[in-house]
Amino acid sequence: MLRFAPSPTGDMHIGNLRVALFNYIVAKQKNEDLIIRIEDTDKERNIEGKDQEILNILDLFGIEYSQVMYQSQNVRFHTAMALQLIHEKKAFSCFCSSDWLDKKRDEAKNNKIAYRYDDACANLPAELVIDNMNPFTIRIKKPDETITIKDHIKGNVSFEPNEVDSFIIMRQDKTPTYNFACAVDDMLSDISLIIRGEDHMSNTPKQDHIRASLKYDKKIEYAHLPIILNDIGKKMSKRDDASSVKWLLEEGFLPSAIANYLILMGNKPPKEIFEIKEAIEWFSLDAISKSPARFDMDMLRHINKEHLKNLDAKELSRYVGFADGEIGELAKVYLEEASTTKELKTKIEPIFAQKIIPEEFMEQSKIMSETIRNAPYFEEYEDFKNYIMKESGLKGKNFFKPLRLLLTGAEHGPDVAEVYKYLKNYIGEIVK
Ligand code: GLU
Repeated sequence: MLRFAPSPTGDMHIGNLRVALFNYIVAKQKNEDLIIRIEDTDKERNIEGKDQEILNILDLFGIEYSQVMYQSQNVRFHTAMALQLIHEKKAFSCFCSSDWLDKKRDEAKNNKIAYRYDDACANLPAELVIDNMNPFTIRIKKPDETITIKDHIKGNVSFEPNEVDSFIIMRQDKTPTYNFACAVDDMLSDISLIIRGEDHMSNTPKQDHIRASLKYDKKIEYAHLPIILNDIGKKMSKRDDASSVKWLLEEGFLPSAIANYLILMGNKPPKEIFEIKEAIEWFSLDAISKSPARFDMDMLRHINKEHLKNLDAKELSRYVGFADGEIGELAKVYLEEASTTKELKTKIEPIFAQKIIPEEFMEQSKIMSETIRNAPYFEEYEDFKNYIMKESGLKGKNFFKPLRLLLTGAEHGPDVAEVYKYLKNYIGEIVK
């Protein structure tokens, strides 16, 4: 079983989508199920509706899953397991106040050493614990030995017991901490491989230690994906528009192209343009580069254009807001100068809109539109052109400029003869 575990705390980041895609592909390859676990235990950061938005994005990208679960529904298991750990003396109640811990943290900072909990409450006598009315957290005892994580991308990564520390698993308000909830849920769901972002690497020994303390001996495999950098080499954050999947979709990038690009990043695929189902045939986590991948908008635009070319005309029509297949063919002509559906719309909508004619061609346009409105239907552009030229008496620039403006709503663009092929049935609508 694999899992994708998003937090419903903001717009879906492309890094998360990449994680979801990789989980989906590998689940298919291993013929295992993929579950979605909405990590909603941090009530303060949850945003209403984001869970559904994430699920809609997964559906849009064709990422299939067998089940959706909400982490908050497992809190009773988290509590039960924390109590079990206390009972087995693998965890302890910690009465240190936040103020006290902050003071210790500041001291460590001033002495330029990493802060570690000093295990002050690790071995309190039972009577001090039982009669103690002060608020307490539950901490798990730090491991005795080095923990080595085998990672498909990072190789072997080791952590010393001090780095893991005796950390908090249940807060004073009796809610589980992120690491505890996550570790227990992965165990309860019988997860075989965890694919996630490398920002979680430091959590991994903690989660491993939690499961080992609960005597869970199944070895979970890991793959921590390198972060995605923006064009100036900084971690792509919310401030980078392109980090938001929603933004990319609104900008007119196709799901198949976004997926293609995210799978290609930091990878060596056998071809540049592909669909997710093809990637299932050759994808390998072990081929993913260890170093951060840099987001390249030009590359994404190139891939998007190729995916737009591969759409059938009817589908492309719908993307640019028309029902008719011919507009899709026309849109393909405009792919010469557009790479997204949004850009295609800005080329195609003016064709059907009220035309804005510059002053210098006003006169000629009036004559020409009159001629076009009264013209018979012509199958071939050459015949149409010759007829309009003859009837209007316009020539050269005075003919071609207004013709392009009246037919396409723009001064420049693809060959009018090419455009005419797909517009000839709409002339009445276009030249009003
Ligand atoms: N909820 C975490 C996140 O959105 C993912 C945790 C995990 O995959 O273990 O970053």
